[in-house]
Amino acid sequence: MDTVVKIGNISLGSGCPIVVQSMTNTDTNDVEATVAQAKRMVAAGAEMVRITVPTLHEVAALEQIKNRLRHDGCNVPLIADVHFSPAVAEACASIVEKVRVNPGNYVDRQSAADENMSDSEYQAALDKMAAKAKPLFDICREHGTVLRIGTNHGSLSRRIIGRYGNTPLAMAQSAMEWVEICQQNQFDNIVLSMKSSNVSTMIEATQLLHKMMTDRSTVYPLHLGVTEAGAGLEGRCKSAAGIGALLLNGIGNTIRVSLTEPPENETPFAHCLVNRVEKLKADISAGQIPYHIDEHRTLTVCSDATDMDALIADVASITGYEHYREKIRNLKIEAANFDQNTLQQLEDTILQACRIKMSRTEFISCPSCGRTRYDIMSVLEIVKQRFANYPGLKIGVMGCIVNGPGEMADADFGIVGGGEGKVVVYRGKERLTDNLPFDEALCKLEELCEEWKRNFRR
Ligand code: SF4
Repeated sequence: MDTVVKIGNISLGSGCPIVVQSMTNTDTNDVEATVAQAKRMVAAGAEMVRITVPTLHEVAALEQIKNRLRHDGCNVPLIADVHFSPAVAEACASIVEKVRVNPGNYVDRQSAADENMSDSEYQAALDKMAAKAKPLFDICREHGTVLRIGTNHGSLSRRIIGRYGNTPLAMAQSAMEWVEICQQNQFDNIVLSMKSSNVSTMIEATQLLHKMMTDRSTVYPLHLGVTEAGAGLEGRCKSAAGIGALLLNGIGNTIRVSLTEPPENETPFAHCLVNRVEKLKADISAGQIPYHIDEHRTLTVCSDATDMDALIADVASITGYEHYREKIRNLKIEAANFDQNTLQQLEDTILQACRIKMSRTEFISCPSCGRTRYDIMSVLEIVKQRFANYPGLKIGVMGCIVNGPGEMADADFGIVGGGEGKVVVYRGKERLTDNLPFDEALCKLEELCEEWKRNFRR
């Protein structure tokens, strides 16, 4: 049975239209700026607005933001983005329509010993999590608040990794543990998500979760997104490859295209993606399949798109979908409304987004949020220009030190926002420097990239 949840004035789930959402990146305590940005996002097509609430210090601001928006006639459902803290989640649950928690770090501890738990220790950890979550269910039930169980590949608990590895299966299991706890508490007002910056991981984890829920006869609504997708063409291609592949397969009820750009840029592309996938599904079910795969596993996609967003949506969705089903090796686009250079560039970018062919550096960058304390959009552009030519290397550019190191999960190197206007350099999850001015951090990054290139060539 597919369930439907009500989030303010929006119904989400089985048979309901797919809902487009986005997230503010202002400081939540800056009420004026956050209200203004939320209104711009709604004007650009956001049907739900998520706001970060890192600590109890932002809760009062969250309430003021909601009151200001409602006073001004803006009734968009609001979502509080909470990672760690039961106290923050409980406080937000009586204010906004939906609260997002991360099962990887909500209550679960993160010590190395947790990777080797016995069955009884594992069960005790689950019982503790269930006991800590119960008050949140009670508050949500009282206020009609929806909970999103938002699993991120980069912040799985050590307990789960110890049992299932750092895998898509671990992501799905992490969410299913929470589903079970919710059901034990007769709490069904939930939405789930599986996010990763790796398109294949995000698709596989979501498919697994969907199958697990189907096998248990209750399918809750799913939120789709490729996290840390980056900006520009790359960010749109990655997002469309992951989200579009799942939508084509009939999975997903709400989406966020997360870009390292102003959040009001996200929603027009998200709506375009939803519309183009609907058209593709209609064409396919009418027997007009707009692509084929030859014996060399080259996928050829034909598109009648007249603008770039629609072309990206068509080709990346089909590529993500087919690459997940049966691996493809190459991509050709036939689209009469575009020149060959544009098509070639798009082929390369989509092949890179799906990690089928890595012809340049991959950049993993978060959309930023109220936790970011430096100008991540300008910094990303500089990093992209300076480090473009390390094919196969993955570089992260992340907004904050709280979640950044975990969330750029499979980057080789990265810079992560530290103090005001400063960044810290990482190798994988290993912190290499203190807070550095940006120029010094780039020199360190260059050293690391050159060393990587020398070792790579050896
Ligand atoms: S990594 Fe980026 S999006 Fe995630 S919490 Fe930090 S600043 Fe916000």
